[in-house]
Amino acid sequence: MKDLEQLREQLDDVNLEILKLINQRALLVQDIGQIKTKQSMKRFDPVRERDMLDQITSQNDGPFEKATIEHIFKEIFKASLELQEDDHRKALLVSRKKKPEDTIIDIKGAKIGDGNTHYVIGPCAVESYEQVEKVAAAVKSKGIKLLRGGAFKPRTSPYDFQGLGIEGLQILKRAADKHGLAVVSEIVNPAHIEEALDYVDVIQIGARNMQNFELLKAAGDVNKPVLLKRGLSATISEFINAAEYINSRGNGNIILCERGIRTYEKATRNTLDISAVPILKQETHLPVMVDVTHSTGRRDLLLPTAKAALAIGADGVMAEVHPDPAVALSDSAQQMDIPMFDHFIEELKEMDQRIKLVGEKN
Ligand code: PEP
Ligand code: MN
Repeated sequence: MKDLEQLREQLDDVNLEILKLINQRALLVQDIGQIKTKQSMKRFDPVRERDMLDQITSQNDGPFEKATIEHIFKEIFKASLELQEDDHRKALLVSRKKKPEDTIIDIKGAKIGDGNTHYVIGPCAVESYEQVEKVAAAVKSKGIKLLRGGAFKPRTSPYDFQGLGIEGLQILKRAADKHGLAVVSEIVNPAHIEEALDYVDVIQIGARNMQNFELLKAAGDVNKPVLLKRGLSATISEFINAAEYINSRGNGNIILCERGIRTYEKATRNTLDISAVPILKQETHLPVMVDVTHSTGRRDLLLPTAKAALAIGADGVMAEVHPDPAVALSDSAQQMDIPMFDHFIEELKEMDQRIKLVGEKN
């Protein structure tokens, strides 16, 4: 019995020794990782790994077999590599680890990310001044600041209405100025960014362009807030990296917008990934909005999904409104008319107040 006790004590010591050594090894791997990052070198080097394994197994006198030793060391190598990846993630400019406090973006006095709910409302596409102005008046009457409208429309079919281009931006600005609103509009071509700066207060980058890296870089090079939409099939990690492209060029004023992802479900146009909202809020310091129009593609689901967005902690909601949706040149099935919009906002404001009351009580 005494022998057993003694052996166990020795084993405990060896365990601690191994622990100390693998952590010592991990520190070295982290240092190597930093050098590799600086030199843009790939973290995983299979040739180097093979050399290390050969060196180790050639010195192995047992009792473990070569294959067992290889297996154990490969696990240690893998864990170290993951550690490097964690460090890399930690270093992302958009990550909460980098900047714990929320980013608040001031758009003509509307402070996105300040804890209040903000709305981005307007037609799918700019069709005429009269059309946009009617929506702008309704938006203003609800105390909303951000007017949206598509001037450059990235349509799935090349034969569908492509938008009015710069003329559309001019219309948006004229209607927004009349009512003291800010303009949010999508830009699809990096060459248009400079010109758009005269008309828009927020550059929207659409789902189809979330990984258009040249566009992301061009938006990152200017001093204008960007509303970045999640790609149709983008993972949350890809979405965060797209935001990082913008931030890495110096523009940190980014609003993330969940707009539904493609799944096998056909009941809605896309599947609203509502859990992306708290994940993005945890992982990044950026404000997060939910576009209920494109995520559902169904008028009857706009209000319930917007309520879900508020309940889960979104900083804002985007929705499309058209004075006469039946004749809209795009997305006619899913835009709200103005009476429906009025009801939509009233319901959401009421819910917002209830959420705030509960928050105060807690
Ligand atoms: C839009 O908001 O006008 C739009 C085209 O949305 P998405 O890029 O999300 O499809
Ligand atoms: Mn649309």
